[in-house]
Amino acid sequence: MRRKRSLKIVATLGPASSTYETIETLFKAGADVFRLNMSHGAHDEIRERHQIIRDIERDLGRPIGILADLQGPKLRCGVFKNGPEMLEKGASFRFDLDDVEGDASRVQLPHIEIFEALQKDATLLVNDGKIKLRVKDCGKNFANCIVEVGGEISNRKGVNVPDVVLPLAALSKKDLADLEFVCNLGVDWLALSFVQRPEDMAEARELVAGRCAIMAKIEKPAAVDCFDDILAVSDGIMVARGDLGVELPVQAVPPIQKRLIRGCRAVGKPVIVATQMMESMIDAPVPTRAEVSDVATAIYEGADAVMLSAESAMGEYAKEAVTIMSSVAEEVENDPNYRVVIQNSRTRAATSVPDAITVAAREIAETTDIKAICCFTESGSTALLASRERPMVPIIALTPKVGTARRLCLAWGLHTVVTNEVARFKLAVVSAARAARNYGFAEKDDNIVVIAGIPFNTPGSTNILRVAPVDEAKILAGESE
Ligand code: PGA
Ligand code: MN
Repeated sequence: MRRKRSLKIVATLGPASSTYETIETLFKAGADVFRLNMSHGAHDEIRERHQIIRDIERDLGRPIGILADLQGPKLRCGVFKNGPEMLEKGASFRFDLDDVEGDASRVQLPHIEIFEALQKDATLLVNDGKIKLRVKDCGKNFANCIVEVGGEISNRKGVNVPDVVLPLAALSKKDLADLEFVCNLGVDWLALSFVQRPEDMAEARELVAGRCAIMAKIEKPAAVDCFDDILAVSDGIMVARGDLGVELPVQAVPPIQKRLIRGCRAVGKPVIVATQMMESMIDAPVPTRAEVSDVATAIYEGADAVMLSAESAMGEYAKEAVTIMSSVAEEVENDPNYRVVIQNSRTRAATSVPDAITVAAREIAETTDIKAICCFTESGSTALLASRERPMVPIIALTPKVGTARRLCLAWGLHTVVTNEVARFKLAVVSAARAARNYGFAEKDDNIVVIAGIPFNTPGSTNILRVAPVDEAKILAGESE
């Protein structure tokens, strides 16, 4: 089984997609990575979904990526005495630490850190930004605000404080427990919500201790401001447009999306564009033209992956949403203009030998008739470099490590294959040629490019490139290596 596109699709699992049959259907329709959202779903449910994915992987013989998404320090207000209250424009409203039930004039905000960091004139947003308040005066345990945009406030609604870097622990108690749980399950990626600074990622990396790759969700203005530093200590990035569009004006999201994608492409780290991509498909079998255009824009920018949230977790048309995303990708990637856009937005590789080898592989593949670039990779770094080049021929990433194969499912253009350990380069070439034929990338008389690091089993040592025939007899008849 192979995909006919380079873009990867991430599908969030939920009540609408929790059985073997539905998850298998989503995989076959085109989902490459499944997202387990730790904000919803008890540990038993998460464990069950994880196991189902691994069962499907075994039954279909293809690596599948699993991304666990931690809830992070999401702020919430307290509860109200008489149910929901209407906050009118111009009214005064107070947040404080008092756990007495709220009314139309005040409510508890049980996060002491907020009051310590708040300043006069800061903005508070409630309920996904629907209500907007401005701080008039504040102290250690209260903030008196004026309602600027009114609306209904009710029990435990989310509160965003966009202008302020909050001295909140990046990982709540729940996050710490969830992190340990999903690392022990064996997920491939861990995403952190509301990252504010590079230290947040460093803290997670220490706790994860190499058990999976870590991704920063960019959804706070503070994270946008220090994006380069966060990227440097992350393995991947999610453009988390849902919260980003609440914390910042919506019109700020598209330029940030472009900047983040380009930043990630420059260093060869996977980037996911997330949220509201096919939103109307939560309850309709077809997307709007604008949604199709949004997905296409992410593809033309060269994003590694696009993501479905409620569309696949709760919607009736999960399969259709995946299928349409996949068709959009095939159409865009076949557009000659796509090739031009991708080439023009490629940046120069670094000067290391592995970088030089992967650049050469792309140039050879595009100069002569080569059917695939095959790379042997232990840690995945060589394959990510090959992906970074965004070549217009397929990339086959061969690895003896199933964890590497699964993690690479998120990266642009990589068809991952788990192989046996090989001791000699000639055998690696044989194994690459077999994979190219078995998965329908090449036929008997075709040629491929094979890159690897000799000696094998040394991560980051890529130093050899060979243009090889796919015909095994010809490979074996070649000079001994
Ligand atoms: P969420 O993250 O779905 O966990 O909120 C994505 C986003 O904010 O876009
Ligand atoms: Mn979010």
